[in-house]
Amino acid sequence: MTRIAVVEKEKCNPKKCGDWLCVRLCPVNRTGEECIVKGNDQKAKIDEKLCTGCGICPQRCPFGAIHIINLPEQLTQEPIHRFGENSFALYSLPTPMFGKVVGILGRNGIGKSTAVEILSGLLKPNLGNIGQKADIDNLIEYFKGSEAQKFFENIRDEKIVVSFKPQKVDAIPDQYQGKVKDLLERVDEKNELDKVAVKLDLTKILDNDIGNISGGELQRVAIAAAVLKKANLYVFDEPTSYLDIKQRIKVSKFIKELADDDTAVLVVEHDLIILDYMTDLVHIMYGKQAVYGIVSKPMTTKAGINIYLEGYLKEENIRFRDSKIKFIEKAPTKQAKQNSLVKWDDIYKRLGKFELTAKSGELENKKVIGVVGENAIGKTSFVKILAGALESDKGNILGDIKVSYKPQYLESTDQLVAVVLRDAMKHKAQLITPLDIEPLMQKKLSELSGGELQRVAICACLAKDADLYLLDEPSAYLDVEQRLNVSKVLGNVISKREKSALVVDHDLLFIDYISEQLLVFDGVPAEKGVVNGPFSMQKGMNMFLKDLGITFRRDPESKRPRANKPESVMDRKQKSENKLYYT
Ligand code: SF4
Ligand code: SF4
Repeated sequence: MTRIAVVEKEKCNPKKCGDWLCVRLCPVNRTGEECIVKGNDQKAKIDEKLCTGCGICPQRCPFGAIHIINLPEQLTQEPIHRFGENSFALYSLPTPMFGKVVGILGRNGIGKSTAVEILSGLLKPNLGNIGQKADIDNLIEYFKGSEAQKFFENIRDEKIVVSFKPQKVDAIPDQYQGKVKDLLERVDEKNELDKVAVKLDLTKILDNDIGNISGGELQRVAIAAAVLKKANLYVFDEPTSYLDIKQRIKVSKFIKELADDDTAVLVVEHDLIILDYMTDLVHIMYGKQAVYGIVSKPMTTKAGINIYLEGYLKEENIRFRDSKIKFIEKAPTKQAKQNSLVKWDDIYKRLGKFELTAKSGELENKKVIGVVGENAIGKTSFVKILAGALESDKGNILGDIKVSYKPQYLESTDQLVAVVLRDAMKHKAQLITPLDIEPLMQKKLSELSGGELQRVAICACLAKDADLYLLDEPSAYLDVEQRLNVSKVLGNVISKREKSALVVDHDLLFIDYISEQLLVFDGVPAEKGVVNGPFSMQKGMNMFLKDLGITFRRDPESKRPRANKPESVMDRKQKSENKLYYT
């Protein structure tokens, strides 16, 4: 059996664990061998060959820094890449296929970005030999007999040229200055800038400075830059972050169209509805976060997503999650009316060129209300009006409410998490533990990953005393499990404290999972916003999907919502019956 030992260096603190506790406890050390030793970096260092897997050190380390993992028996090879001694190990790679969009689905910290960076040639793997870089012939040999062998042979013979859209589009303005157009012209090897700019809605911002465009615009610029390069493998790492749902659908269609007999596409994506919509096949990546990652064989997208939710890979006989992720078929039932939290009537507000209107509506207590609509359509302004932080030009608000707000863009300062979350400690069981914040407490906000910062921001928002919690895009940077976990935490807070929440998000599966009612914003971004609702989920989604031109059904097996293929039998039937949101 192959065993690996991983020490999470950030967690290892020999001064606070009782002076190298693991070194003193290891039974192999007691026989005089050097199994766990003090590393040069003053962190525990484990000799994987000497370790017997007795399980004492991972159990006794008070900071959970050690992981001793017995790998699945099928895994006979060395890892494709290891980041260092006792560090994360990646086994196997996804397989790009000509004519197909192949998706990669898995938790954060499981090696998805590492895998696509290796395939894109941005990271030279070491095949487990720390400090070395494998050359192309080593890789061909390593993958002998598999699809990946052919892939690396094609790379060697220069038959595959890769173009890569990185995950972190926020970093682009640090690397490139100047106008959007100048950047795109520089990479436009296909001479298709005008065509791609129209398809990705970039024409209006071509003359804008890269430093002054929004997150959603940066994302589309990054996608355009990747696509304008002449390549036959396009790799997109999280192409829909910051995009609203309309743009997600548009970008999905665009990416889907790239795949043809001579072109392969690989996508990492956490929005399951979009992943389902965009890909033909998926690989599941499983293992243990920050410890190791394994890539499954490719499977059809429908089966792959259901298997992922199930947590069990039948073919490999591997259970990679203890519990299933379940969706509940929500019948269009009438929900019990709760006490009124706030009411509004004929609201009108002008903000520069933008106009916001809201006919009459009401938020009730003890409800999670989803908010859907495009970016720049007045969602935040409306909530500020409800909270009294922004005065409307016309109309009435009935109810005096206190709002706690989690913004869309999170500021990462040098403050310690423990300081930011001082108030949250009294909600340890309700917030800190389920959101897994404890290991982050002694870090600075600036040291956190996007997903960690998001969890801290959600925790800080929910720790405050308020009548209405407004969470603006809480799903950004979170993986599927974390998104659904946030839904549970929020549902719990709302029902126990008898408060309400508005959740603005573009992941419709998350909105479907979390919400009891829906506020639908329509209009024209940056010009006019109209607030409709709140409605029942059925009515609200019906209205919203009509605007998008798509229909949803429930998957009979997992009960998750799925977008119907445009013009399919179901799509046409649901449209003709005006039941766009699952029957
Ligand atoms: Fe102490 Fe844990 Fe580090 Fe070992 S791994 S030295 S027990 S903190
Ligand atoms: Fe030593 Fe390995 Fe046991 Fe840890 S699991 S105490 S390293 S033998």
